[in-house]
Amino acid sequence: MAIVSLQKCGQYDNKIIKEKILTGLEQIGFSLAELKNKRVCLKPNLLMPVNPERAVTTHPEVFRAVAQIVRDYTDNIVLIESPNFFPLKPTIKKAGLAGIVDDLKIEVADIKVTETLKFPAANRYKSIEISQAFFDVDYIINMPKLKTHGFTYYTGAVKNLFGTMPGLSKSRMHMTAPSPMEFSEFLLDLYGGLLNGFEKPKKLIHVMDAVVGLEGDGPGPTGKPKKIGAIIVGDDAVALDYVAVNLVGLNVKKVLTITQGFKRGYGVKSPDEIKVIGESLEDMRINDFVPPKSVLSGGIIWPLTSPTVKNLFVPKPVPRADSCTLCYNCMKICPAGAITEADGDKVPRYNYRKCIRCYCCLETCPEAAIDLKKGPLRWLMPT
Ligand code: SF4
Ligand code: SF4
Repeated sequence: MAIVSLQKCGQYDNKIIKEKILTGLEQIGFSLAELKNKRVCLKPNLLMPVNPERAVTTHPEVFRAVAQIVRDYTDNIVLIESPNFFPLKPTIKKAGLAGIVDDLKIEVADIKVTETLKFPAANRYKSIEISQAFFDVDYIINMPKLKTHGFTYYTGAVKNLFGTMPGLSKSRMHMTAPSPMEFSEFLLDLYGGLLNGFEKPKKLIHVMDAVVGLEGDGPGPTGKPKKIGAIIVGDDAVALDYVAVNLVGLNVKKVLTITQGFKRGYGVKSPDEIKVIGESLEDMRINDFVPPKSVLSGGIIWPLTSPTVKNLFVPKPVPRADSCTLCYNCMKICPAGAITEADGDKVPRYNYRKCIRCYCCLETCPEAAIDLKKGPLRWLMPT
């Protein structure tokens, strides 16, 4: 049985958020005394350098509250996170965390040094290179933001752990695991490794920022902030994601890290083994949360690997000349080499025969200048 604490929290007020997180930790049965003099990792979502109001990154008040709570028990706190390809320190600053890191004397890890996390029981990825800093810690406090995701439909507790891998190695994973199913299985191998693969085992606690989430075409600035009014706390990432997805009325069957996660059984194996404490899920449910338009039914479209067939069915990323600044972030992150310079045009050139529809370009574009255009036969596919 996994307990997930659902707390009502309508604003980013330090006192209120701290109280909600403390209640959540108590409700899931976590004793803060365990943290005494331990080395604790804080793992927010810092996808890219954007203002907190864009709801792309973990809000600084959630980060501050968790850091203050931990600081009462240990001085040994380290922030470990890897933005997609932006440098970490400017990202911390833009996301509003720099003052908190300084005030609370939080170490910022060098994420570029890596070590191999070995997990022989993984389905496919038995060795994964992650930031070495994770090997030294005793606890990982994962602080995901509740967001939609163009490729995986939803991103939360399991997906936020992808940031344990440094920089561009993340987007390159899309080439070895190009379908949502393969990619979700990879994420679960990583999650299993973080739970069971360290010689010095770590405890993972998840504190989700769902005060304001991101709907529409997330997880980057193309998504739209959406007030949800919740803080969710748990120690089983799959169970917490199940509660979060239900809270915003998304289709659980499309979240393959949940459906496959139940089958893995690293924690709970079904919704029957999840107990929600605190507020009632039904009372807090959001009924008008907008899903991403890129994702159809999980797994169905992805046998369509032929570029021609894919172009007919699967939405493609199309840059808009009215907003594009030719920064070429999209080109730098594209794992398929499908984007080249504008060469006289107002936007970069996209080769849709090469494009694997990972939507890394969309999530990285700082101007939200990339739209999704439906394939001409998209209407034939189930939603
Ligand atoms: S990332 Fe966005 S703004 Fe930058 S070149 Fe690509 S489409 Fe244009
Ligand atoms: S063009 Fe965009 S969606 Fe296509 S492979 Fe490159 S990054 Fe992924």
